[in-house]
Amino acid sequence: MKTLAIADVVHKIGQEVELYGWVNIKRDHKKIVFLDIRDRSGIVQVVGGEECKALSIEDVVKIKGLVKKRPDKLVNDKIPTGSVEIEVKELTILSKAQPMPLPVTTDGYEIDEEIRMKYRYLDIRRPRITKNLVLRSKFIQLLREYLFEKGFLEVETPILSETTPEGARDFVVPSRLQKGKFYALPQSPQQYKQLLMVAGLEKYFQIARCFRDEDPRADRAYGEFTQLDMEMSFVEREDVMRLVEDMIIGVYQKLNVPIKQKPFPVYNYQDAIKQFGADKFDLRSDEDKKNNVQAFAWVINFPFFEKTETGGWTFTHNPFSAPLPEFKQDLLDKKNIGSILTSQYDLVCNGYEVGGGSIRGHEPAVLKTVFEIMGYAEKDIQHQFGHMLEAFSYGAPPHGGIAPGIDRLLTCITGEKTLREVIPFPMTSGGKTSVMSAPSTVPDDKLQELGIKVNTD
Ligand code: ASP
Repeated sequence: MKTLAIADVVHKIGQEVELYGWVNIKRDHKKIVFLDIRDRSGIVQVVGGEECKALSIEDVVKIKGLVKKRPDKLVNDKIPTGSVEIEVKELTILSKAQPMPLPVTTDGYEIDEEIRMKYRYLDIRRPRITKNLVLRSKFIQLLREYLFEKGFLEVETPILSETTPEGARDFVVPSRLQKGKFYALPQSPQQYKQLLMVAGLEKYFQIARCFRDEDPRADRAYGEFTQLDMEMSFVEREDVMRLVEDMIIGVYQKLNVPIKQKPFPVYNYQDAIKQFGADKFDLRSDEDKKNNVQAFAWVINFPFFEKTETGGWTFTHNPFSAPLPEFKQDLLDKKNIGSILTSQYDLVCNGYEVGGGSIRGHEPAVLKTVFEIMGYAEKDIQHQFGHMLEAFSYGAPPHGGIAPGIDRLLTCITGEKTLREVIPFPMTSGGKTSVMSAPSTVPDDKLQELGIKVNTD
């Protein structure tokens, strides 16, 4: 088993070590051959002779060698292992590599995205992406640690599910056993997490995959994304906001990522619109941007409803939200609908909305009235949300939650331009999967089994 990370060779001066990794660079100087050997942790210079001649870039090798301190004038400040080099004693080629279809030693921004995603498993080898994925793992670990410490339970919710309205189109999956019927992939675990509160679990979180069939946009991840989905019982708006803020401040401190303003400033929706012309805004100065400072803010007091093109009402954020307490009666009376404010809170960072949530309407009458205001017929409410109304009739605790977007937060921390740089296997902006070429056609007999006829017109 490999036990030594390349980054740790600096602690092994004078010792014989066993290295495993990839040939990052080879410089053949006739009698001596210089190699840079790379693993997940970094690269180190290796010096060998004849035995290294047959090596090609990206071959996988095992090297037994002696760790030597480099003379002062040969120290390479540019890499963390630059004070040492490894003298080869024994070299084994574990796997040969064909010429690479794309370079993996550059930062990769110069390479066409289709190619990068086709060979994403090679693209991840480039240190920039490896580093992003190492950070992603650490970030999620720290979030989990914080939440476990606060008494949260990690609970999984179904992927094959029923539609949950988050304002996007659903991805649907045909049912073979019940021809003509479809599952929807969840746009979020919203309903299930609320049901977990009715179930009495009190504090829930999940590193949740959400699926939304939105029109592809350059700065978006198409199709699926990951959020830290949370829900808590017996809380008020400020409790959720405070907990999330405390979590972010603690986690960012551990990652050495500076935050501009603590506590996070809180803006009224109307004030934000007046001041910034939008409900997401960037509070960073040019200096902040240079220093990777993260500027968080909350936005609250959003209108609950907005007018649709056809003159009806629709929700602005989340139909499962409660109105602010002072608007509850208006909501139940369906009065002054345009003025009703929701308990929604959005978290903004560096100009992006990085999460949102609300205190929920846990009384059946409140939830039902929201759908009535939006023009749902009684039978549609029962059909689509009857299970929630029924669940709330068996003793539902007041509850609320939020779902910070993991991909977006990491994009902000790393300063990357797109979410795809921090997602292991993202779809291309055109909606094609990495490496494998979904969406793809399905053979006729499979379609028949599903009772589906495809019309591509
Ligand atoms: N379900 C919401 C979303 O996905 C988050 C929440 O209200 O907890 O944006």
